[in-house]
Amino acid sequence: MKLLLHTCCAPCSVYCIKSLRAEGIEPTLYWYNPNIHPYAEYQARRDCLKAYAELVGVDLVIEDAYGLDEFVCNVSDKLDRRCEEYCYPLRLRKAMQYAKQHGFDTVSTTLLYSIYQKHDYIEELMYGLANELGLDFLYRDFRTGWQEGQDEARRVGLYLQKYCGCIFSEEESALGRKIGRKMQKRGVSPTNANVRQVIEQSKAEGILLPERLSDAVVAAFPTKD
Ligand code: SF4
Repeated sequence: MKLLLHTCCAPCSVYCIKSLRAEGIEPTLYWYNPNIHPYAEYQARRDCLKAYAELVGVDLVIEDAYGLDEFVCNVSDKLDRRCEEYCYPLRLRKAMQYAKQHGFDTVSTTLLYSIYQKHDYIEELMYGLANELGLDFLYRDFRTGWQEGQDEARRVGLYLQKYCGCIFSEEESALGRKIGRKMQKRGVSPTNANVRQVIEQSKAEGILLPERLSDAVVAAFPTKD
C-alpha cells in the first residue's frame, strides 16, 4: 500500500502516524489547507508540521496555497454549510488528485482524528471521491486516540491552534470561549439550554451574535441537554 495522508496540522497527525506505523503502514503526509486564516496562523501550522515531519522522519509534501480571498468568496453564500459544501471537498479532492498523479494507491486524512470535525460526512465524502478517482480510501476512526495524540503533541511542544482554521471558525471559537467564561463565572453547567440562555443574555447586553454563530457556539459545547 502506498498511502497519502491528507494532513490538516501537526497535532492531528501525531496519533494518525503512530497508529498507522503500528499497523506497518508508512504514510506520506500531504499539506493542502487554503482554509487556514489569517496568514500568520497558516504559516505557524504549516511550519510546525514541517518541523514535526522532520522530527519523526515522515515524508511530507507541501502544496503551499494560502487562500483567504478565494475561500471567502466561495463560502459567503453558504456559511452554515461551508465545511461540507466547500472546505472538505476542496481539500480532499486535491489530495486525491495528487495521489492519483503521483503513484499513490490509497488516501486517508487526519480530519478523521479530530473530535470536532464532521466525521461521518468526511468518511462518506472520502469513499465517494476515492471511488470516482479509482483510489482506495483507508478508513480509520482515529478519534479513539484523541487524548493520547493531544498529550503527545503537548509533550513535544507542538503549536496547538485554538480554532478549526477559517476566519469564521476563529470567530465562533472566540465567542465560544467568551460564553464559556461567562458560564464559569455564573457557576452554571454547560448544557445546551444554559448555553442558549447565556447567549440570549449576552445579546441583550449588546454583544453582536448572529443566529449562525449562536448555533455554532451551542454545538461546540460537548454537553447535551
Ligand atoms: S470550520 Fe474548519 S472545516 Fe469548516 S470551513 Fe472552517 S476551516 Fe473548514
